[in-house]
Amino acid sequence: MVDFSLTEGDLKLMEVMRAERLRARTIAREIDRIPESQPLTDGDHPIVAGTIAPYAALAQEKAPISGLAVTECLMQTVGAPEFNTRPAPSPSGTWIVNELGSEEQKKAYGHLWLVFGVSEPIAGSDPSAMISTAKYDPETDEYVLNGEKTFISNIDLGDGVVVIVKGEPDADGKRPFYNVVLLKGTPGFEIGQPWRKLGTRYHNLGSFSMVDVRVPAMNVLGNGFVNIQTRLNVNRPVQSALGLGMCRSILDFTHGKLAEAGDEVDYAKGRSSRSFAEDKLIRMEALWEATWGVIMQCKWLEQQLGQLSKGFQTQVAMAKTMSGKATRQITQGCLELLGAEGISEEYLAEKYFRDARIIDIYEGPGEIHRLAIARKLLGYRKGELD
Ligand SMILES: Cc1cc2nc3c(=O)[nH]c(=O)nc-3n(C[C@H](O)[C@H](O)[C@H](O)COP(=O)(O)OP(=O)(O)OC[C@H]3O[C@@H](n4cnc5c(N)ncnc54)[C@H](O)[C@@H]3O)c2cc1C
Repeated sequence: MVDFSLTEGDLKLMEVMRAERLRARTIAREIDRIPESQPLTDGDHPIVAGTIAPYAALAQEKAPISGLAVTECLMQTVGAPEFNTRPAPSPSGTWIVNELGSEEQKKAYGHLWLVFGVSEPIAGSDPSAMISTAKYDPETDEYVLNGEKTFISNIDLGDGVVVIVKGEPDADGKRPFYNVVLLKGTPGFEIGQPWRKLGTRYHNLGSFSMVDVRVPAMNVLGNGFVNIQTRLNVNRPVQSALGLGMCRSILDFTHGKLAEAGDEVDYAKGRSSRSFAEDKLIRMEALWEATWGVIMQCKWLEQQLGQLSKGFQTQVAMAKTMSGKATRQITQGCLELLGAEGISEEYLAEKYFRDARIIDIYEGPGEIHRLAIARKLLGYRKGELD
């Protein structure tokens, strides 16, 4: 049975997250002015010192919740994250080591803080176009890596990266993907300057190059690219919910500003008696709710059918597409209603507008997920629709 009511535990945890985000909001503008972010690995930000981390609260909650996957997304929708108040629990690279690594590899690298490097200057949406290589040297039992990666989150923080590269062609001419642990300080591994960007300035983004980098064969985790993509799908609805969180903040702010101007939204009024502003805000709220429904259905399917089920995988692409679009439309629509106040640095509305743009880029833009939906539902193969 589908049940849309939130449990006592859900509501409590959403409140914990809301409190965290409201604390962060008090210094969000200050943080936004720092072009590069603060470290993610050095413990909690002082603004949240002495308070329970929302994810720790989720893990410990005793009251009934709608399920870990659903409740995590519910928590993300309560407001904009503002900035990273806590270290990431387990960055993607570390997670991959612990998913795909042998016992020996997990012991050696599973405790390190490793990011994840796939995107290349000529291979973003289509990772199969990547040209970075790994070549085996039997004399030293090492792999030699060459290539360049870009737009890599937090590459300058932590211990290194799990980088995806292509191996040498097999008997059928196919080149396998390798996931390789690459640690900082390895000769030939050079990290570039951080990118300065439109929004999410608290989120570090950079690039790196590999020139004849030698790593022991033991650093190669396995050819699990499809497996990793499938598993990464688990995170996409969470990012989608994060987009709704940003929208929640800008919608609430816009409601407040309209009310100050004497145009408080009255949901009971008929369409013909609403003001333009009221109508526009109500339509954006409806889009928010519809997107919320798709994300929750997605996570519900994950809980019911499992992370590898086709139903869940298809719904992931729908949730990410819809959230990317809704996030852009709602933040833009609110700025339209706010007029000059929307772009004033006195308020955070313009920051939410800038921060939100990323939701429709990373973890796959809407165009790419639309292709994924068509492939999954209609059975198209790669290349037939592009
Ligand atoms: C803040 C941030 C963090 C990131 N973190 C990481 C990270 O940690 N690790 C990592 O590996 N990568 C990361 N990325 C990279 C991200 O995954 C890529 O930016 C994304 O996959 C898109 O690739 P691209 O930017 O090269 O765009 P492109 O692939 O060049 O696409 C440009 C535009 O063309 C559209 N397009 C492309 N192909 C098609 C098609 N066939 N049909 C229709 N439209 C198409 C796209 O939708 C997009 O709008 C990050 C990006 C950002 C912005």
